[in-house]
Amino acid sequence: MIRANDNYNKLKASYLFSDIAKKVDEYQQKNPGAQIIRLGIGDVTRALVPAVIKGFHQGVDEMANDATFRGYGPEQGYDFLRQTIAKNDFQDRGADISADEIFVSDGAKCDTGNFQELFATDIKLAIPDPVYPVYLDTNVMAGRTGEFEDGRYNGIVYMDCLKENNFLPRLPDESVDLIYLCFPNNPTGSTATKAELKVWVDYAKENKALILFDAAYEAFIREETLPRSIYEIEGAKEVAVEFRSFSKTAGFTGTRCGFTVVPKECMVFNSKGEKISLHAMWNRRHTTKFNGVSYPVQKAAQAVYSEEGKVQVKQQIDDYMNNADIIRKTVASLGFDYVGGKNSPYIWVDAKDRDSWDFFDLLLTKAGVVCTPGAGFGKCGRQYIRISAFNSLENVILAMDKLKEALTGRSSAK
Ligand code: PLP
Repeated sequence: MIRANDNYNKLKASYLFSDIAKKVDEYQQKNPGAQIIRLGIGDVTRALVPAVIKGFHQGVDEMANDATFRGYGPEQGYDFLRQTIAKNDFQDRGADISADEIFVSDGAKCDTGNFQELFATDIKLAIPDPVYPVYLDTNVMAGRTGEFEDGRYNGIVYMDCLKENNFLPRLPDESVDLIYLCFPNNPTGSTATKAELKVWVDYAKENKALILFDAAYEAFIREETLPRSIYEIEGAKEVAVEFRSFSKTAGFTGTRCGFTVVPKECMVFNSKGEKISLHAMWNRRHTTKFNGVSYPVQKAAQAVYSEEGKVQVKQQIDDYMNNADIIRKTVASLGFDYVGGKNSPYIWVDAKDRDSWDFFDLLLTKAGVVCTPGAGFGKCGRQYIRISAFNSLENVILAMDKLKEALTGRSSAK
């Protein structure tokens, strides 16, 4: 008899964004003429920039010719891209990361979800609440949790990120082995300073723990003093793995490319307490289960770092951040507390004691604006919504106007 992995039964029935899509579809069917503006799902809306398209085309053209055609590439990524990443994202910022510590992949979702495979089932995990749901769900699937009760899985150490602690996770009271951190955070948009990250690096060293650091939104950091990589913190190379993505940085959500940094100094321990190289383990896993990102996509990713690519990508991010400014100002003018939107494309809005799904429904039905209910990111998000800056300027202005009208009866578009 073929038996199922019972851990899947512990998962909540459906994924947040499919629930949202269902509600939006239902509303649209009932109100066929209504205009809907989507500031919910964190997908980008702007086309790939010209420099990236040029790189992509070059890669495709090479595939059209026997002399330059490429078949299977190195699973870890082509050296040209690994070198470019190591130099631009790390070495130029004073972080000593080498090309062979970069593992190119088809995005941060797979890597953040798959990395937990390298660890024993009975390790203790600490996960922020609220946060990107993939960290938690993949550990549930792997059997590292108990049942789901009152909005939480038994066996996980949740790090509450609330207004009282500036939406930053605090060191857990009990000792943990694996710590997930995400900065700039999805969904709150909060960021951590070097001093704040140093506390975690020191904790990991003292406790022989490991940090999985998701920096998928680092390109949105505007404050120069904030770290863009955990490796800007002394000692982090021994205790942290970092995930990066071209999805939000350069519009690759549909093109698919990201990378994971696994420094050679990073060690885990076997059942005898002996040190094992995490780099060697991830290399083994990656080369066994992954066959590389397509050559044209890696050429396109390399073009993100060309002189013209950097300028064009920055302009696109600046445009999204201009949207974020408009959203922040609007929610503030409506008397809502919020965080984020300054170094992140997400604005996390306090729904003023309303349930996040009720507030979602209100904004959808009264304003035609789709946001994301905070409850989808964890128990601590139950009274918040996330508004995303990924849309056109026109749509953001229109959405904010509709929001004002729905909540105050006044419109500024007259
Ligand atoms: N990490 C975080 C925090 C995210 O919000 C997302 C996507 O929304 C990802 C990772 C996934 O990125 P990718 O498109 O590279 O899989």
